[in-house]
Amino acid sequence: MDQPATPPDTPLADVTARIARAAAIAGRDPAEIRLIAIAKTHPAERIAPLIAQGQRLFGENRVQEAQAKWPALIAETPGIGLHLVGQLQSNKAEDAVALFDCIHSLDRPSLVSALARAMDRQGRRVDCLVQVNIGGEAQKGGCAIADVPALLGAAREADLPVVGLMCVPPVGVEPAPYFALLARMADDDGLPERSMGMSGDFETAVMLGATYVRVGSALFGARD
Ligand SMILES: *Cc1c(COP(=O)(O)O)cnc(C)c1O
Repeated sequence: MDQPATPPDTPLADVTARIARAAAIAGRDPAEIRLIAIAKTHPAERIAPLIAQGQRLFGENRVQEAQAKWPALIAETPGIGLHLVGQLQSNKAEDAVALFDCIHSLDRPSLVSALARAMDRQGRRVDCLVQVNIGGEAQKGGCAIADVPALLGAAREADLPVVGLMCVPPVGVEPAPYFALLARMADDDGLPERSMGMSGDFETAVMLGATYVRVGSALFGARD
């Protein structure tokens, strides 16, 4: 008889195992899927254990909060990647380009210009994903589906390195159709990265082609 598998003893091991299982079901190489630990609202003391367990890729949704927490953590541990997953105001573009390695929330032409200016000034190219308002929700951030081709065109013209698409589906409904739509849009546009899936639905996202999953509460516990 087979030995029972050792149960994962940390949330990080559990989430990693669940990603691998979903990838295997979908016939995908788990190495194609990168886990972004979303650390918003959590202080450095809560982040340090994850770094000690080997996690290197983290996400924040606010520039100012990230500026307060991350420079010290990054200085202590080489190889940390920091991604911005929240709405970005144009007047924070300069700070965002200086601190983050990837921006998942490119959603409008004015931000294309602000990011291009900041990258030119700093001589630093930061990968961007276009956030798509995949559910067509009035109150939600992200570029309307119909406006994505024009935004991608503007980004290419401005020489922004756009590598993929990102979405946050509507709350409380089955997310799979939205993930499938985002993956198809990325395919159609020849973009390799799809940032989709959070604590409640990352396995579904993996099965539908996510290359980045953004997981907060399943790793850190509930936010206040
Ligand atoms: C907070 C946040 C997440 C993580 O959410 P959890 O449900 O805690 O996993 C993912 N993506 C974005 C854009 C977020 O703001």
